[in-house]
Amino acid sequence: MAILLCTKTAAMNDWRDALLAEDSSLEIRLFPEAGDPADIEAAVCWNQHDMAELRRYPNLKLIVSMGAGVDHLLRPPGPPPGIPVARLKDHRLTTGMTEFVVLNVLRFHRQDLEYRALQAKRVWEELPAPDTARRRIGILGLGELGAASARALLSFGFPVSGWTRTPREVEGVTGFHGTEGLDAMLRQTDILCCLLPLTPQTRGVINARTLALLPRGAFVINSARGGHVVAEDLLAALDSGHIAAAALDVFEPEPLPAEHPFWGHPRVLVWPHASAITIPSSAAPQVVENLRRAREGRELINLVDFSAGY
Ligand code: NAP
Repeated sequence: MAILLCTKTAAMNDWRDALLAEDSSLEIRLFPEAGDPADIEAAVCWNQHDMAELRRYPNLKLIVSMGAGVDHLLRPPGPPPGIPVARLKDHRLTTGMTEFVVLNVLRFHRQDLEYRALQAKRVWEELPAPDTARRRIGILGLGELGAASARALLSFGFPVSGWTRTPREVEGVTGFHGTEGLDAMLRQTDILCCLLPLTPQTRGVINARTLALLPRGAFVINSARGGHVVAEDLLAALDSGHIAAAALDVFEPEPLPAEHPFWGHPRVLVWPHASAITIPSSAAPQVVENLRRAREGRELINLVDFSAGY
């Protein structure tokens, strides 16, 4: 039996090496060289893969995302019916995202954009000192990534709120949930950070209406998925000055087209979907563990809840 690695990225070889380092007895196939379709018992996929293709493998027991997100696996046609899908929960991925969030929160909080603009003009000018205890952070999503970022920001002394689908307690974080909760949180958020999964319910959540609820001069950080932001609405809010600046790691489509206004916008920081990169050697143990469990008919870990969509 074999694991099929389905990605067009250079990471394919790293994944193969990492899985073999965990279990040298594994048979690894690199798509499209799948060999006999009946051999394939698990597919480890990234977002370039055509999910319809996985219907060809009659003995498939498990699909694993190469990242924390699974929107790329669930969109139509979706995984073959009845096959479980697992996502990654990996400390290096989480650390990477926390670093990205902290970096950009501090950049905005400590007026880094203003100081760079002054430096460009060779102006020596001290701006009013920001007050950490009064800079309110609102995090959309308090899952694996959102909760870790929340804890890191709390350690600096920022007041942190978080919005979730179901009521969720993270120590020190003011929790909000549901549509009314979203509006209430936005009204008291100076730096909004999106760490939601992309589902039909969360697509376009950062739009003209929700941006207008943020206090004037608020900042936006999106490192979840490009589909969470209505790009034209964010550009309008930036151009009107209602939103002071944005740090964006994810876009729709990706790569961000060269002519897109985000590239040249003076108040937008563009990243190439690099906030939290999967390190195969760190992620491989849980993939191998799940394969063993699937073979033995045991309960799988990090499973996607199809009804919730993440
Ligand atoms: P997770 O552990 O599944 O947490 C998701 C959080 O979002 C949960 O708190 C969940 O609420 C909340 N949520 C889901 N749907 C919601 C809704 N309709 N309304 C309000 N809250 C909702 O996910 P994660 O591991 O933190 O990852 C989040 C996302 O980050 C991934 O799906 C992926 O798209 C993105 N990501 C991006 C990168 C990158 O490089 N840019 C890297 C990794 C991940 P409950 O607590 O109620 O379940």
